[in-house]
Amino acid sequence: MDGPDAGEVVMKGIPVSHGIGIGPVFAETESFPSEAEAHLVAPEDVPAELKRLEVAMRLAREELAKVREEAARKVGDHDARIFLVHLQVLEDRSLQEQIEASIRDEGVSAEAGVAHVIGRYADAFSKLEDPLARERATDVKDVGRRLLRHLSSSVEETTASPPTRYILVTKELFPSDAARLDRDRLAGIVTEVGGKASHAAILARALGIPAVTGVRQTARLLGGKTTIVDGRDGTVVVDPTKETLERYLRGAEAVERVRTALAAEPALPAVTRDGVAIDVLVNVENAGDVMPEDLGDVAGIGLYRTEFVYMDRDSFPSEDEQFEVYRRVVERAGHREVVFRTIDIGGDKRLPYFRVKDEDNPALGWRGYRISDEWPDMFIAQVRALLRASAFGHVKIMLPMITTVEEVRRAVAYVDDVRSDLARRKVAFAEHVPLGVMVEVPAAVFAIESMLKEVDFVSIGSNDLIQYLLAVDRNNARVANLSQPLNPSVLRAVQTVIRAANAAGRPVSLCGEMAGSYYCTLVLLGLGLRRFSMARHYVHGVGRLIRAVTMKEAEQVARRVLAFTTTAEVKAFLNARTREIFREMGIAIDEVAL
Ligand code: PEP
Ligand code: MG
Repeated sequence: MDGPDAGEVVMKGIPVSHGIGIGPVFAETESFPSEAEAHLVAPEDVPAELKRLEVAMRLAREELAKVREEAARKVGDHDARIFLVHLQVLEDRSLQEQIEASIRDEGVSAEAGVAHVIGRYADAFSKLEDPLARERATDVKDVGRRLLRHLSSSVEETTASPPTRYILVTKELFPSDAARLDRDRLAGIVTEVGGKASHAAILARALGIPAVTGVRQTARLLGGKTTIVDGRDGTVVVDPTKETLERYLRGAEAVERVRTALAAEPALPAVTRDGVAIDVLVNVENAGDVMPEDLGDVAGIGLYRTEFVYMDRDSFPSEDEQFEVYRRVVERAGHREVVFRTIDIGGDKRLPYFRVKDEDNPALGWRGYRISDEWPDMFIAQVRALLRASAFGHVKIMLPMITTVEEVRRAVAYVDDVRSDLARRKVAFAEHVPLGVMVEVPAAVFAIESMLKEVDFVSIGSNDLIQYLLAVDRNNARVANLSQPLNPSVLRAVQTVIRAANAAGRPVSLCGEMAGSYYCTLVLLGLGLRRFSMARHYVHGVGRLIRAVTMKEAEQVARRVLAFTTTAEVKAFLNARTREIFREMGIAIDEVAL
C-alpha cells in the first residue's frame, strides 16, 4: 500500500516487539550463496585451500561457542541451545570430509567446496516431505554462511559495514542472527518470514528491539534511505515524508519519555486507591528470564509457556531434563507462584523432531491439549516433572486450548494417576498443586460454569480467544487490523468468564496480550479481573494505572464500555479516559498508542 506521498511507502506486517525504530536500512540480502563461484585452483594450491578450510572451521567453532555463551547470558540457556545444534553440524566429521573431497577432487577453492557441500545438504533437507525436517535446511545454511564469512578475506565486511544504528531488513532472521543482535546498534528489525512465535521474534522481544515480521516484498525497502519500524502496530514506513518522520520521531521520543516517567514511581504492589489488591504477574518463555532481580515485586509467573522447553532440540526432553528446568524456575521464583502451561504445540508452534502432517487450518487443528490428550506419554512425563518440581516451590499447572469438559476430566485423571504413582514410589511433591484451564476457545466460554466445577482456576488466553471468536488468524498480517481486543463481543466473553469464576470463588486471570494493554486495564479491572499476567515490559504501566483508580471508577468505566455497540466507540472512550489518568499522573502519553 503506497502512502500519500509518492516517495513514501507504508507497509503492514505483524508487530512482534514493541517500540519505534527509525534509521537507515541495512539489508542482509544474501541468505546463502548457493552459486558461489566455482573458483578453480591449481593442483599445487589445493593444500593451501584445505588449510584455509581447516582454519575457517576452527574459527567458526570458536565463534559459535562464544556466541552461544553470549546468547545464554543474554537470553538464557534455553534460547541459546540452537547454537549447540550449529556446533554439532560443524563438528560433523563427514561434513568436513565431504568439503575436503570437493576441494581435492574438483580442484576448487575452499569457498566453492563449502558452497557445494552445504548447498547439497540444504537441498536434501529442503526436498524432504516433512515440513519440520525441511526447516533443518535453515540451520545448515546458517552454518554455511558462517564458514563463508570466515573464509572471506573481507570477513567482517558483510556485517561490519552497517551504519552505527540501523534497521535490519532481511527475508528471514536466523537464530544466529538474532543472537548477535545488539540492542545499541539495532534500531529495529523487519522480516518477511516468521510469525510471532518464531525464535527470532522471541529473542527480539527479550532484547527489547522493535520488530515487525510478515512484511511482504522487503526488497521494496532496500532502496529507501530512512525507514520507520513501528513495533506497536506493525507499520513500516520507507522514505517517510517530512511530516510522517516528524510524527514518528515525536512518537519515539514519547515512548522513551513515557518509559522514564512510568519508571519514576513504584508501580507495585498494584493496589487500587480504595485498597483492592490486584495480582500483577509476568509471562515467561524461557528459564533465563526468571531471575529474582527481574521478577522484582511481581506476584509471580502467570504464564510459563513450557513448549519452549521442547524447542531447539533434536528430541523430546526427558522427564528428568524437564524436572531440572522447572525446579530451577520455581527455585528462582522463590515465594512466588509459577503457572506452568503444559505443552502448547501445533498451529504455528512446531517441534523439529515431532512429525505432524500439514493441515489446511492448523489453528483449528491438532494443537494445544488435543495433542497431550491423544499422546498421554508426552503429557504424563511433563506432569511428573512438574509435580516433582512442586516439592521445590509454588507450582500450578494449566492446560492450553481446552474445548470440552471431557478433555478436562481426562487430564485430571492423568494428573491423579501421576500423583498416586509418585506417592507409591515415595517421590516428593507438593500436597496441593492447583490445576487450571485456559479459556481460549469460545466453547469453553459457554461451558465455563461446568469447567469451573472441574478445576481450581482459569486463565483467559485472549490471544487465541480473539482469534477464534472473531475468526481472525493471529498470524495473518492481512487481517491483523481485524484482531480487536476491544470488540464488544470479546469484552462480553471476557465478562462471562470473570463473572462465572468470581461467583464460583475460583481465581481467574487473563494472560493474553490484552492484560498488558493500557487501553484494557480499566475495563478489565471494572469487569472484576484481579489477576493480570503480561510481558515484563508492561508491568509498570499497568501497575501505575491500577494504583491511580478506585474500583468504583473502574466499574463505572466497564458499565459505560459495555453499553457501546462498536469497537470504535469502546476504543475512543477508553483511550480518552486512560490518557486522562496518565495525564493526572503527569505522564503525557498522548502520542503513544497505548
Ligand atoms: C493466548 O492465547 O492468549 C495465550 C496466552 O497463549 P499463547 O499466546 O501462547 O497462544
Ligand atoms: Mg493461546
